[in-house]
Amino acid sequence: MTCDRQAPASGVSTAPCLYVVVPCYNEEEVLPEASRRLSDKLDSLLDRALISEDSRILFVNDGSRDRTWSMIRALHDDPSSMGAAPARPWFTGICFAHNEGHQNALYAGLMEALDRGCDCSVSLDADLQDDVDAIDEMLAKHAGGAEIVYGVRSNRDTDTAFKRGTAGMFYDLMAWLGVEMVSNCADYRLMGRRSLKALAQYTEVNLFLRGIVPALGFTTDVVYYARAERFAGESKYPLKKMVLFALEGITSFSIKPIRWVTMLGLVSLVVSLAMMIYTLVQALAGRVVAGWSSLMISIWFVGGLVMVSLGVVGEYVGRIYLECKGRPRYIVVETTESDGVDGD
Ligand code: UDP
Ligand code: MG
Repeated sequence: MTCDRQAPASGVSTAPCLYVVVPCYNEEEVLPEASRRLSDKLDSLLDRALISEDSRILFVNDGSRDRTWSMIRALHDDPSSMGAAPARPWFTGICFAHNEGHQNALYAGLMEALDRGCDCSVSLDADLQDDVDAIDEMLAKHAGGAEIVYGVRSNRDTDTAFKRGTAGMFYDLMAWLGVEMVSNCADYRLMGRRSLKALAQYTEVNLFLRGIVPALGFTTDVVYYARAERFAGESKYPLKKMVLFALEGITSFSIKPIRWVTMLGLVSLVVSLAMMIYTLVQALAGRVVAGWSSLMISIWFVGGLVMVSLGVVGEYVGRIYLECKGRPRYIVVETTESDGVDGD
């Protein structure tokens, strides 16, 4: 199914075809409420002629192990079976064979929306933390000329102190590394067709959309909203995934850590030269006492330094390996419109 846009009569602007892209991983607990709120939102936008009838809510099932996909199918086939009564058949979905991660699910949804001919997309999380009412303002700013509109949290009150602290440190680190990012913006944003086309040209496997989108360089604007608590279920970003995500962000945008390793190597070379001179002087002066402590400390310190440095280099080498294999980021096995194993 594609957006069936007709050429506007001269001077008449038509309402845009909007695709709301929602990545879902084991979200059976929030889907009924999320789909209700989103379809209510699209109903109201359509009533006010702010979107076209062929707009859609596109769920991306990221290899969920619960009933997420069957619920998405039900929303598409018969929304009333899920307790929804939308004015239009808003719901559609694609399904991955395997869990590929939030960023890949998001990217797949955006590219699917582009393929289906959308004029603009809004991406948001399934857990209703992102306030759907901000979409109105996003559309208004897009109509006013902003190609990308970021949804920025007005506060982080709903986050744990740990998440607030680590997020702040991460934004500072990224800024220091020279990576352009929009602070306090998760992946809630509107992107117009032009920026989606530009995004389609980014073929890297090491995907960090929060860095890539600002790097696209279109006119942007922001909309502030209060981020709510997760509606139900638990976070799909445990600490391990959060750390990996941060690492992805750093390594996909900056080679500075590798330079630091080189600098560290140089510094330790200078220190070891000084140590050599010192040791020789001590030996010539006949003051060679058993320096067990200093020896042990330096062995451990230099050993640790070498291991950390190797680790940093390894992170980059590993990513180069993944990039040059050029594997697909995800495989879509099914869509709500077809049962074909390859999604045709
Ligand atoms: N998500 C996903 N794949 C994953 C992990 C998460 O598609 O491997 C989705 C998830 O269903 C949600 C969004 O990404 O819609 C953000 O996840 P979550 O709300 O759990 O993250 P948090 O808000 O806790 O950082
Ligand atoms: Mg969340």
